[in-house]
Amino acid sequence: MIDLLLKHSPSPIQKLFSSLLEEKEAQLFVKRDDQLHLEAMGHDDAFCGNKWRKLKYNLLKAKELQASTLLTFGGAFSNHIAAVAAAGKIFNFKTIGIIRGECPPTLNPTLRFAKSCGMRLKYVSRSAYREKDSTTFRSSLVAEFGSFYSIPEGGTNDLALKGAAEIPAEIEQQLGRLPDYICACCGTGGTLGGMIGGLHEKSKALGFSVLKGDFHTQEIQRLLSSKYDKVPMNWQIQTNYHFGGYAKYKTDLIDFINHFKSKHHIALDPIYTGKMFYGIFDLLQKGYFPKGSTIVAIHSGGLQGIAGFNERFGDLIDL
Ligand SMILES: *Cc1c(COP(=O)(O)O)cnc(C)c1O
Repeated sequence: MIDLLLKHSPSPIQKLFSSLLEEKEAQLFVKRDDQLHLEAMGHDDAFCGNKWRKLKYNLLKAKELQASTLLTFGGAFSNHIAAVAAAGKIFNFKTIGIIRGECPPTLNPTLRFAKSCGMRLKYVSRSAYREKDSTTFRSSLVAEFGSFYSIPEGGTNDLALKGAAEIPAEIEQQLGRLPDYICACCGTGGTLGGMIGGLHEKSKALGFSVLKGDFHTQEIQRLLSSKYDKVPMNWQIQTNYHFGGYAKYKTDLIDFINHFKSKHHIALDPIYTGKMFYGIFDLLQKGYFPKGSTIVAIHSGGLQGIAGFNERFGDLIDL
């Protein structure tokens, strides 16, 4: 069963057409990791995208260690929580989600989904959550739940980077060469960091930060220096497209996402991929990419988050 993880076919790659791309003489492809899920389990769309890439080797490791339980951490709308819950159901792990903040009076779609997959949810206060990596907190979890395979918040660890590092080779096979730019959104930076490792400096990796602040450069530097003696230099973080921070938005972004869907028939989420594509088109407009550039943007999934976003803010995103 778990071997399915190793035998999957590559996610599709799709070319976009627009007058701006034509005018700027650039080619833009979307690597549809949002469609990367196990066909056999088609309904579990939450186990897809970059969460699929990042969990792949962690799930194999957990099986190898004969762990029966996966435990992880996240916010109440987390794509990672949804993905771990779905993966647990598919591959027969018990799952425990340590959720930041109080239990809401009614569960949002992400938590409802996680529960429906059998995930046990434990809510901890924001201050306790901040201490989640401390040894005292860890021992209290072991005392409460017994032994488990632990996956960090957002899923970023060495094995996650190993999974993301496979993306460039897939693209190279599909296009016959690597593009000039590979773009990904950055939450923890694990996906971009992993891809940088798989690029062998042949293309530039561009990360689009969905959070306020300029910590991604340092964080990715840290992730890479723990893996490589000589940290690759072929990457850069764009920090102007966070729209106010995690789960913040502006009308511009919503309009862009809805327009993008009606034009290209590709759904984007407002937390991650919408911001990146907005950024790519803005950079194109501003002449950032030299004429003749080939760009591949990773559609990292996250579509499960739209329902929760719409429930929270009014039905802003067209379904
Ligand atoms: C979690 C997530 C990200 C962030 O990935 P990192 O590896 O943490 O940077 C990006 N896109 C989507 C859709 C996600 O769900």
